[in-house]
Amino acid sequence: MSKKILIVGGGIIGICSAYYLSKSGHDVTIIDKYGMNSGASYVNAGYLSPGHIIPLAAPGVIKQGLKWMFNSSSPFYVEPRINLDFFKWLYAFNKSCSNSNVKNSILPIIEISLLSQDLLKDIKNKNKMDFHYDQKGLLMLCKTEKCLEKEKDVVDLAVQNGLRAKMLNQSEIKKIEPNINIDSIGAAYFYCDHHTTPGELINELKDYIQKKGVKCITNTEIESFEIKNNKIESVNISNQKLIYDEYILSAGTWTSKLCKKLGIDLLLQAGKGYSINHSSKTDISCPAILVEPKCAITPMNGFTRYSGTMEISSINNRIRKNRVNAICDAVESFYPNIIIPESDREAAEYGFRPISADGVPYIGRANKINNVVIATGHAMMGWSMSTGTGKIVAEIIDDTKTSINIDRFNPNRKF
Ligand SMILES: Cc1cc2nc3c(=O)[nH]c(=O)nc-3n(C[C@H](O)[C@H](O)[C@H](O)COP(=O)(O)OP(=O)(O)OC[C@H]3O[C@@H](n4cnc5c(N)ncnc54)[C@H](O)[C@@H]3O)c2cc1C
Repeated sequence: MSKKILIVGGGIIGICSAYYLSKSGHDVTIIDKYGMNSGASYVNAGYLSPGHIIPLAAPGVIKQGLKWMFNSSSPFYVEPRINLDFFKWLYAFNKSCSNSNVKNSILPIIEISLLSQDLLKDIKNKNKMDFHYDQKGLLMLCKTEKCLEKEKDVVDLAVQNGLRAKMLNQSEIKKIEPNINIDSIGAAYFYCDHHTTPGELINELKDYIQKKGVKCITNTEIESFEIKNNKIESVNISNQKLIYDEYILSAGTWTSKLCKKLGIDLLLQAGKGYSINHSSKTDISCPAILVEPKCAITPMNGFTRYSGTMEISSINNRIRKNRVNAICDAVESFYPNIIIPESDREAAEYGFRPISADGVPYIGRANKINNVVIATGHAMMGWSMSTGTGKIVAEIIDDTKTSINIDRFNPNRKF
């Protein structure tokens, strides 16, 4: 049965949900507070990485965060602030930084990431889309033995869980990246990881869904929800009352604010990250993560992107120049022939990753309001998990068996 559906938030998660919901025959509208042309879904590193098997909430993360808290150019930073939602999130996040959280998350993370890769290839091929999609794998470059050893543990875990990955020495790295000097002592290599150019992909998908009848209302915010019998009856925007059968909350970092209006307590914080586009040509051909400084390098269609920093902070528009410089300096230190011009550093952009309290997304029906599906909290894996999330959202709405088990993603889980 066709339903009228409102998707709140038109980032990659909202757009992929719209793709599958409209394919399923529903009448879909996306509403976005801004222009659907900026933020995390545009500035990300473009990785589709089943190899990222460890959730953000893992042993040692809080300790590392505390160590780096007063270093303004560190890659991971938690801004201290007096805010009840932040305290609740921090308490739950700290509790989740455990071996059991990692153990319980690995399989669901791999399943949704692999599902998403398959679905994205399918979307591209079936619809003859042009967006850049590359399957060159991902190098995790290390400068120290300590990091190399940790990467070896991740490779072993990945292989045990069916992924293709291995450790490389310097000459093996050179075979993968022959045209550029790399200063590292070795790397982990995830054959299973793919990459894309985000702006290209999201714009092509956005055009496609609109041609298929999805309506997009931009620069418009929901003022209030009217709730009756545990259901959203209508939403109010600019003196207009709009009525839908189902509501998908996919507003990224801002989803917790929307949930609050509905009496739902969703533990979510913003993890700001920056990216810098290198305007002149580089000889980098394989994506790489610089493990110690935690920066991502992506050869995109026509340019190279450097990204990094996880700043758990309030939602603000401030670009911290010292963090942008720390990303660029790290790139120049691993790739001695690369020089990033000041003009590219000045043009750095940012986005907010929606960070759940255990680093695993929230996908599923809200238990307090019957016609609400929540889809957010993907942290640094939202691009990798986007098409899988969209497909699952449509399956939930259609009340059909989901493509994978989604118990681990339950948005009503307790911490
Ligand atoms: C620097 C950086 C690098 C990254 N690299 C990768 C990567 O390589 N691979 C990967 O998998 N992930 C990566 N990520 C994470 C990934 O980008 C995010 O997880 C993903 O984009 C989140 O998508 P989203 O649609 O949930 O949220 P967003 O992209 O934030 O979209 C949310 C949308 O909701 C709208 N909105 C907000 N409030 C409201 C409201 N009240 N009403 C209506 N609309 C609203 C916003 O305007 C926005 O358009 C990276 C992130 C960053 C910042």
